[in-house]
Amino acid sequence: TNTLIQDLWKCDSLEKANAFIRARNGGPIHLHNFIDGKFQGSPEAKRINSHEPKTGKILYTVPDSPETTVEEAIRAAKDIFPAWSKTSRAVRSKLLMTVAELLRQNRELFAVWESIDQGKMIERARVEVDRAISNFEYFATFILHEQTAARIIDGVALTYEHRSPAGVFALISPWNMPLYLLTWKIAPCLAFGCTAVAKPSEVTSMSAFLLASVFQDAEVPRGVINIVFGSGATTGAPLVSSPMINGVSFTGGTETGKAIRKATAHQIGKHLSLELGGKNPTLVFADSRTGSTASWQRAIKVAAMAAFENQGEICLCGSRVYVESAIYAEFVRDFTSYVREHYVLGKTLGAVASFEHYNKIQGYLRIAKEENAAFLLGNVADTVDGTQCKETGYWIEPTVLTGVPETSRLQSEEIFGPVVTITPFDSEEEAIRLANNSEYGLAVVLLTTDGARMRRVGEQLEAGLVWVNSWLTRELGTPFGGMKNSGTGREGGEYSRDVFTVIRTIHLPT
Ligand code: NAD
Repeated sequence: TNTLIQDLWKCDSLEKANAFIRARNGGPIHLHNFIDGKFQGSPEAKRINSHEPKTGKILYTVPDSPETTVEEAIRAAKDIFPAWSKTSRAVRSKLLMTVAELLRQNRELFAVWESIDQGKMIERARVEVDRAISNFEYFATFILHEQTAARIIDGVALTYEHRSPAGVFALISPWNMPLYLLTWKIAPCLAFGCTAVAKPSEVTSMSAFLLASVFQDAEVPRGVINIVFGSGATTGAPLVSSPMINGVSFTGGTETGKAIRKATAHQIGKHLSLELGGKNPTLVFADSRTGSTASWQRAIKVAAMAAFENQGEICLCGSRVYVESAIYAEFVRDFTSYVREHYVLGKTLGAVASFEHYNKIQGYLRIAKEENAAFLLGNVADTVDGTQCKETGYWIEPTVLTGVPETSRLQSEEIFGPVVTITPFDSEEEAIRLANNSEYGLAVVLLTTDGARMRRVGEQLEAGLVWVNSWLTRELGTPFGGMKNSGTGREGGEYSRDVFTVIRTIHLPT
């Protein structure tokens, strides 16, 4: 493993990484678990192949770690928890700042491997590495400025809130923004004094493997953070339901969220933070058009970004666009030509993450064809099972659809790819009703120049996040999470503190 890491570590440009992959001549790279501060082979585990989305070829394998391996990792995290939870905030802060600094020094390396592994373009990957660095810096400094609430009860008692680390956590992440989402969990978990077993998606494990060696180099004490690889069924399920696990921070699909909730329902005190799927609407009001040219251009740009950034593979992507009837035709025309010009396969739009995901998206496009939707951009692939893309990579053109009825599965189910529907609405009430007509409630983009409407509509939307004339801007202290089937709990700043700490109220007599 050490030689492998050294080799991977030399690939700090796409050219070098591609040359390294070609030199292996199809021989995959074998990634190993990181447990108790060491990379460990897992001879008893079956191995899972992970393919490179842009070529369709096998890139590496990960162990499908069985329950025994998961338990070994949890044990390591549990053994070190008493010592780690008692380290001073200053010590934890310094270690996390070192991790951030090492990530910064190796920014391009991480961006290169993230882009190759997930299918995203390198520019997008760089943004996500920068956000991963911010995750560590934010929580490393947050803990230095924490305050505790104290109250006096009528001269009878002084009470104060005492928080302590909640214990050992399972941190589970999906494949769409692998490093960013995993560090969004690891950074607060360690900062607030907890220890962890992290499991990245089996589809995109490379950046977690590289991150493990950063933890080694930063001299984070062994066992504090363990990383195990594997599938949800074999590795994830025993991890979340282990009685030694005190909390689960999970980001992924709603069905998996439900399974985790069921599996842990009897463990009442287990902390659960579930960040799940979405089917996010973008509402475009006519005042965006009647305002300045700049406001119209911004509306088009923001709606397109929200639909197609990272191939539409962001939980916050706006895949249902609703446009006020008066400007519908004009919006469809300008939006389509903007997307044609700005979202070009292989230049600004990458490949989708896996063969399974490619087939899932094609399935929705076939439904659209059967329902006679208009394909203004994009089309269904020629073959039904998508086998040809196994040789050429998982590329899907940006797809713009109109004429999709509200009853269509395309309007209610999460496609999570470069596919957007555009539908007209007649009134503000109808726009709100359409936006809220979903089992999900993660995010909404609201495009309007009317200040009163921003608040009036914004406050009626059933969504954890409402972006007005913008999308994806974040401040890490703000609450992040969804309503309805998009999740439970919030993360970010003091909301993450709630996830990773337990509170006791201490009453002192006066
Ligand atoms: P997924 O639910 O299939 O998998 C997510 C992770 O859970 C993976 O690591 C997987 O191995 C693991 N897993 C699967 N079954 C498990 C089980 N029974 N127990 C424990 N772990 C299990 O999701 P995905 O396909 O990897 O990711 C896409 C989904 O993630 C989309 O629905 C997307 O909206 C969602 N997502 C949500 C957010 C958010 O912040 N709300 C962010 C990104 C992605």
